[in-house]
Amino acid sequence: MYYEIIPNKFAPKRKDREDSMTTNSHSICYGKCNCNCVFCDFTKRPESAYNTYDDELFSEAVDILLEKGNNFKFTGGEPTLNPHLERHLEIVKAKGGYVYLDSNGSNPEILEKLMQKNLIDVLGISLKGIDKEEALKIANIKNGNLIWDNVWRTLEIANKYSDKVRTIVTLVFTQENREGRLKRFAELICPYPKAYMKINNLQRDDHPEHLNIHSIGIDSLYNEIKEFVDQNSEWKNRVIFVPGASGVSNYDSIIFF
Ligand code: SF4
Repeated sequence: MYYEIIPNKFAPKRKDREDSMTTNSHSICYGKCNCNCVFCDFTKRPESAYNTYDDELFSEAVDILLEKGNNFKFTGGEPTLNPHLERHLEIVKAKGGYVYLDSNGSNPEILEKLMQKNLIDVLGISLKGIDKEEALKIANIKNGNLIWDNVWRTLEIANKYSDKVRTIVTLVFTQENREGRLKRFAELICPYPKAYMKINNLQRDDHPEHLNIHSIGIDSLYNEIKEFVDQNSEWKNRVIFVPGASGVSNYDSIIFF
């Protein structure tokens, strides 16, 4: 299996841990995905970015990373496609690591097993759209079960484990899809009372013209979210705003409501 391992790279997307900072948080990026999202540059990463890690080498890499901090984000790509994921999570947890796992939610059975075994502390689920049609369009694949039906099964399962697994659901906002999106997003996540909504402003503006997607002015989106939270107090302390690309690796640029 192959990973790109990036020490001290990611900004943890939660605020209830005092040690949430980029300097102690490492990314373990898996090199395969089952989606082809239109705004994602994952498929453009060079093959040379990835190295093969058997269990022994991975364990050694974890030891080195632990010297700089114990937060590990398993991301990708889609980490649940990795046949060695469970074993490698076990290695990280046995050494005292704290696990963030990013997924598109397409593999509920695998995620349930990992949650059952207490191998995930924070589960990030990326929702590809506010309905199946949009999710298919954004994920750029044909199998709607994968990125819609399965995602909701994953959220149902995560809800069962919500006392020990923090779930953060992400949705990308653009100028073009913004209208009514926040309200609809909240309606979709409402049945999961401990889940966070994470609003990602589109991270780059260099997408091909035919996609017609553009980021939203930060102040404008900030004000919209603030007004929404002010008027809907059940969302207080449950909304995370990532205003741009810097939010991937700069904890200070993430805004919590
Ligand atoms: S699921 Fe994630 S990694 Fe895969 S293509 Fe979509 S955004 Fe990129």
